Amino acid sequence: MKILVINCGSSSLKYQLIDSETEKAAAVGLCERIGIDGRLVHTVAGCEKLTFDKPLPDHEAAVQAVLAALMDGQHGVVSSLDEIGAVGHRVVHGGERFTGSVVIDDAVIAAIKECNDLAPLHNPANLIGIDACRKLMPGVPMVAVFDTAFHQTMPKKAYTYALPYEYYDKYKVRRYGFHGTSHSYVSRRAAELSGVDLNNSKIIVCHLGNGASVSAILNGKSVDTSMGLTPLEGLVMGTRSGDIDPAIIEFIAKKEGKSLPEVMEILNKKSGVYGLSGVSSDFRDLEAAADGGNERAKDATEVFVYRTAKYIGAYTAAMNGVDVIAFTAGLGENDKKIRAKVCAYLKYLGVEIDDVRNDVRGKEALISSDSSKIKVLAVPTNEELAIARDTAALVG
Ligand code: ADP
Repeated sequence: MKILVINCGSSSLKYQLIDSETEKAAAVGLCERIGIDGRLVHTVAGCEKLTFDKPLPDHEAAVQAVLAALMDGQHGVVSSLDEIGAVGHRVVHGGERFTGSVVIDDAVIAAIKECNDLAPLHNPANLIGIDACRKLMPGVPMVAVFDTAFHQTMPKKAYTYALPYEYYDKYKVRRYGFHGTSHSYVSRRAAELSGVDLNNSKIIVCHLGNGASVSAILNGKSVDTSMGLTPLEGLVMGTRSGDIDPAIIEFIAKKEGKSLPEVMEILNKKSGVYGLSGVSSDFRDLEAAADGGNERAKDATEVFVYRTAKYIGAYTAAMNGVDVIAFTAGLGENDKKIRAKVCAYLKYLGVEIDDVRNDVRGKEALISSDSSKIKVLAVPTNEELAIARDTAALVG
């Protein structure tokens, strides 16, 4: 079955058309600048990238443009919409309601809307994408795959904030965690690659991209993860602060005369390695600056690495041990220096990195030495494939 995977943001829409039997993507693409002017970048497997500058006034126009590109006489990969068996939608927040992927109907849409308060930047955009697809592809089954669902197995002691309990009762203020599709996919793949039985394993996945999170996966189930109510908690990220003393919010607001939303904007968009270095949120720029002697860029990297290593230590304690550590996402897959620096903190666990094996980019690889007590792997994530798999399983 051909499955269209949609990841809809407020002004962008990423898509892939995946064959559920071969698990290969026939086409991948991105609509950008929706509501501004509009650009569609469409790539058919094995062919050159094609860029179309076309007006995309709204998400419906974007979905229409995607379907037209997929059916294009010259560059298309399907001859009619009937060939698309199902659509899988990434949805960021499923609250406590969704513990796995679901076929979308009106009740599911209403329940996703109820989670909008928990992810005001993401869920409404995800819903707009779902609406547009339902309008343009009536009768095609659609599935919602949630970033939070995989972490719904966290025990209460891991997801509870030490706040007045009424805030949990009234507003469901608790830790949810994100990147769940990636943590689930990578932990399974890491178990397969390292020959460990997933159902009897202790795996730590480090999803290190622009957004970054670590998770503890015991016997195939998430038991803790570093993001919380929102994706702001946990690791130092590209532009997000991760964990801070909450009292800093009032302190900065008073000192700088800023409102609460302004301080939150700083924590989300102006902090992390970007805020620390003053250079960039991209580690490639940071490394270039550090190589050129920029001390703040060097320090930013050290703070990022140290926080990541501390979380690995915490999750080793949470699971009373660890068998496998897997690195994924932009940095985890590509940056051998960051992987080596994080692992240098883990010698007490018997982690030993093999520099030759670690010299790998964007590929599945064992990067620990044969004598390492814990297997360490680089595993490229594939959230779209995971969404396509869930979609096929639910509608197939
Ligand atoms: P997100 O999906 O959260 O936006 P990604 O997983 O795409 O982020 O990761 C983006 C980050 O990965 C970039 O900011 C960059 O720091 C890092 N990255 C990507 N490619 C490389 C590379 N070849 N070498 C080092 N770092 C890289």
